[in-house]
Amino acid sequence: MSATTPHTSNAHKAQFLAPETHQRADRANRMDTDYTAILQEALTKPGTVNAAYRAFHNFSIGNQILAAIQLTEKGLPLSPIASFNAWKEKGRFVRKGEKAISLFMPVTVKNRKAAADQSAGDGDEAVTFSVYMLRPNWFSLDQTEGEDFAPELVTPQWDAAAAMAVLGIAEEPFEQLRGNLLGYADGQRIAISPLNPFKHKTRFHEIAHIVLGHTAEGEMTDGPTTPRDIREAEAEGVAYILCTLLDLPGQAESRNYIQTWLDGGALPEKSAKKIFGAADKIMKAGRPVAH
Ligand SMILES: [Zn+2]
Repeated sequence: MSATTPHTSNAHKAQFLAPETHQRADRANRMDTDYTAILQEALTKPGTVNAAYRAFHNFSIGNQILAAIQLTEKGLPLSPIASFNAWKEKGRFVRKGEKAISLFMPVTVKNRKAAADQSAGDGDEAVTFSVYMLRPNWFSLDQTEGEDFAPELVTPQWDAAAAMAVLGIAEEPFEQLRGNLLGYADGQRIAISPLNPFKHKTRFHEIAHIVLGHTAEGEMTDGPTTPRDIREAEAEGVAYILCTLLDLPGQAESRNYIQTWLDGGALPEKSAKKIFGAADKIMKAGRPVAH
């Protein structure tokens, strides 16, 4: 689903480009425009990531957490969400007075000025690009009434071999010569030390380096003395999200590392956004094929 919004749209500016102008915006709305805040929520309430996946598995991980935040603030349980019309198709109707929850949606923006500048163009050749904007389109099951609806809760599952095949990544035997490293990523290959206490966490971390494009910039090696590079914060952020989503050990270790970055205010919004994008891609790659 997409909509066309001229680049001069006030709504566009207010909701996406200048969230600070929303002086009375509630907490959820501010969070919708800020992936760093969504990451902070995941770090302070790790259980949310797993619970949100179960309820909202069809949505991106960032939107899952956003939905969880907003329902919790309304005092509602985490139950399935759908648009007004999608509920209608299921024979249910949004109760009067219920306010929609907002999620990020891709919106195609048509740049009319750029189109006009193309003097030879026929007017339909507008330059378009996609931006993710906050859209209040969703209602939870508990905000609706009508025919019975049995929610389908999905248990998060992830298969390493399937994910690696989809992502075109190979795991090779760990080279002992690499000393006390925990793991490394090189090109499209990763390796995990047999002595690593959290192999799955490091596997996510190394896969993340590849998905985030880091290995295209050079080989990534991870040991106890790895420098606190921004790329490390990004890769570990992905590992943290996936460990909490799948409820695997190593979350506290991972959390402390990321928290240090966020507390210092040094992790840019762009990095937080990249973390959720990569976590989504890796999670989807390893998900059992839908029926
Ligand atoms: Zn690393």
